[in-house]
Amino acid sequence: MSGEAEPKRRRLRAGAIAGVLTAALALLCCAGGAGAFFLTELGGGDDRLRLANQNCTGDFRVEITGEMPRMSEYGEVQLRNAARIIKVGQELQIPPRGWVIAVATAMQESRLRNLANPTVAGSEQLPNEGVGSDHDSVGLFQQRASWGTVEQRMTPEYAARKFYEKLRGVLNWEQLPLTRAAQAVQISAFPDAYAKHEALASTIVNALAGGAARTVPLTDGHVCDAAEDGLIAASGWTAPIPGDVGSGFRTEKRPAHHGVDIAARKGIDIRAASSGRVLVARCDPDRAGQLSCDVDGWPGKGGCGWFVDILHAGKIITRYCHLAHKPQVSVGQTVRAGEIIGVIGSSGNSSGPHLHFEVHTDGDRSSDGAIDPVRFMREQGAPLRSVE
Ligand SMILES: [Zn+2]
Repeated sequence: MSGEAEPKRRRLRAGAIAGVLTAALALLCCAGGAGAFFLTELGGGDDRLRLANQNCTGDFRVEITGEMPRMSEYGEVQLRNAARIIKVGQELQIPPRGWVIAVATAMQESRLRNLANPTVAGSEQLPNEGVGSDHDSVGLFQQRASWGTVEQRMTPEYAARKFYEKLRGVLNWEQLPLTRAAQAVQISAFPDAYAKHEALASTIVNALAGGAARTVPLTDGHVCDAAEDGLIAASGWTAPIPGDVGSGFRTEKRPAHHGVDIAARKGIDIRAASSGRVLVARCDPDRAGQLSCDVDGWPGKGGCGWFVDILHAGKIITRYCHLAHKPQVSVGQTVRAGEIIGVIGSSGNSSGPHLHFEVHTDGDRSSDGAIDPVRFMREQGAPLRSVE
């Protein structure tokens, strides 16, 4: 069981190349295109996702008795149900990604309440936390009659176990976007509805189980904050490239810098930070209106160069600028977390090879929607290394 795992943290690689690149980053500048850039204050919408206890501790044991953490969206009864779901996952040795998928699914199916159903005889006489009305479904996961007796389906531990048993039978479920993994188990009429709960489900798993959504499964256990090089955290996120952040988000010197610059050599693969749909994949015009992204740019040229925008669950958007070549993905394409979307270059407003990376909330591609990628990615267990 993962509860016994020692806390492990991957050491930051601080090789000579990284050092040189980091020093060089002080001189880099980028972006400036891809829409109007204004300095605006963030509306604070992402604070909703913050709970006090989000740290990745290495001790992922979950308590189903005692006090539950407080959060605005869900009360104590609901969080205790989430804890039960996680505990069953641990007992079955399902990795933390499965706990996130299970919690997100129960959020969609029942808002984490053990529901009776007036059309299901006997269900209202059993302990319940409300009633639902979908076919003959009952319980946390709204399971239909074929899943077990009414009493079984309205026992949270039974319902969770049945969910995990089916999930475990889904081919490559750990690599699938949450929507597809949940849908393979639930066969819902509204599959996309699961994905919108992914971020909050990760937050709940982190709060109840020692930051477990921030881990990646490795042979020696679940490792905190190491989701890079194609390893995906249980939250569903990975760092787009392994590298150090040089120029930061809206610094004093660069208040209109709405992303971060990550040092990298030309040709390094850039990965989608999470599953999603490609919104934009094109050359950003420079200040003179020219579409000249196949040549290296320079400071003052303007524009993001070859760039990609991806829309993720929960209306999060990520942006990747200054690619060397035309992106390897196209508009409308669905990508998985960790999928290669292009390679590092220096196109557009750039003085050397690096990745300019942005994170936006509320589906807002403008600078108004941009948040600090360093903080956001750290909370997903896919930290961008900060050298500041
Ligand atoms: Zn930049």
